[in-house]
Amino acid sequence: MARKKIVAGNWKMNTVPAEGVELAKSVVAGRSEVCECVNFIVCPPFTHLSQVVEAVKGSDIAVGAQDCATEAKGAYTGEVAAQMIAALGCKYVILGHSERRQYYGETSESLNKKMAQAYANGLTPIYCVGENLEEREAGNHFAVCKAQIEEVVFNLTEEQFANLVIAYEPVWAIGTGKTATAEQAQEIHAYIREVLRSKFGAAAEECPILYGGSCKPSNAAEIFAKADVDGGLIGGAALKAEDFLAIGKGF
Ligand code: PEP
Repeated sequence: MARKKIVAGNWKMNTVPAEGVELAKSVVAGRSEVCECVNFIVCPPFTHLSQVVEAVKGSDIAVGAQDCATEAKGAYTGEVAAQMIAALGCKYVILGHSERRQYYGETSESLNKKMAQAYANGLTPIYCVGENLEEREAGNHFAVCKAQIEEVVFNLTEEQFANLVIAYEPVWAIGTGKTATAEQAQEIHAYIREVLRSKFGAAAEECPILYGGSCKPSNAAEIFAKADVDGGLIGGAALKAEDFLAIGKGF
């Protein structure tokens, strides 16, 4: 069975609700120009998740959140529970993004709890892994990704693993304009799949592994052509519907 092809947009802390709704509507409007085989996901800020869910209604575009709380509910001021996200009609949640690991102290311990919350509420996690520049230059990128997977993904049941998306995002390529070469992406995606295979066997062949890091219309096709690259997690280029959709044409 062919793996799912996915193009997911991480809007980060961009767009006010009216802008987000307009962006989502433009993606819906242009969607028919891209192969039906591509699964599009948009991940707006929490504040307009429900309006974006409404804006994409009737299309095949899915909506995801950019994070969720470690706990189910209660006295956790400022947090947003997976149950709340799911109740809005979201299907996905990005977990372990490098910006959250770097700026908000995200650890494997907190991510294990967030993954459990996501699954308990029927959300599919888009779990991010990736090395920083220092780790890449020291040749530690394989070990870093392996540890990020072993410490979190290896705790999943087979059923949970069957409902997981992984995003490989080299931190040095995020928002920097530097992109991993297609060969670098394939090398580490194949390695990640091998790590997954060591724990989950043949099910690893079904797990979509997305590339993220300055992916844009001009480089998507070359990267997506690689055997173990199943799509992209897109930051900056997801803020323009035309670019986001053009990336989907890279398949
Ligand atoms: C991201 O942060 O997930 C990302 C890939 O960002 P950009 O495309 O802007 O590098």
